[in-house]
Amino acid sequence: MTDRIQRACSVLLATAALCSAALLYCAGDNAASAFAGRTDAAQGAGGGTGPLSGMVIAVDAGHGGYDGGAVGRVTGVAEKELNLDVARRVAALLGEAGASVVMTRTEDIALCDDDPPIRKKLQDMQRRAAIITQAGADMVLSIHMNEYAGRSQSGPQVFYREDCPAGRLLAGAIQEAMITGLSPKKKRAALGGDYYILTLGVPSALVECGFLSNREEERLLCTEEYRQRVARSIAEGVSAWAQLDHPEPLPAVDRSGEPGAQ
Ligand SMILES: [Zn+2]
Repeated sequence: MTDRIQRACSVLLATAALCSAALLYCAGDNAASAFAGRTDAAQGAGGGTGPLSGMVIAVDAGHGGYDGGAVGRVTGVAEKELNLDVARRVAALLGEAGASVVMTRTEDIALCDDDPPIRKKLQDMQRRAAIITQAGADMVLSIHMNEYAGRSQSGPQVFYREDCPAGRLLAGAIQEAMITGLSPKKKRAALGGDYYILTLGVPSALVECGFLSNREEERLLCTEEYRQRVARSIAEGVSAWAQLDHPEPLPAVDRSGEPGAQ
């Protein structure tokens, strides 16, 4: 199976059309075997002994379904596919470190209806938030790929909720671990940002793993080996964070008055 995936992934580097198809195959196959049952969320491995024992960590693969996210400039690979693959790798590693893991999606789906009475993106985010909250998660990691109008920008970039000390500490630890683990040309610092998924009242980080608008990073992100290094760096950042004193997170944003809120 591994050989088959590796062959598919090397062909993928040469052929833009195959890139999408092969990654979809990898993610779909793994998702189906590892997370039988629910399609919108699933409990991963974990809950055992290790440095993250006792923690419930939500891993959110950004985008999905109709919402493909960023697009690789060379291969045309969709961000949503890479996000899911990296998220699954992160979930597995966190599980090995003893955490219980909940994923917001394990398939190529958006978490919204086809024709909802509110914006599709808002319903999608509300449902992700509900999965995370109902699971009692005490950390959120949201996995994304970046893009920029020009091709020169590169390097992983981790975001935390603006002014949230707990998120800042977590994002800083992950950013540092990604610099150590991936040796990017551009060494970025974690930044505050305004993202829905970071406002649930627990330490949270949104990880932009690299730029699909940068030829070299797109090439790297299309390899299984690099995606595993990305995932390992993120998991190591979480483990490094676990050794630190933790400031309190900002309280969850009250969204009860939001259209479509449950
Ligand atoms: Zn994204």
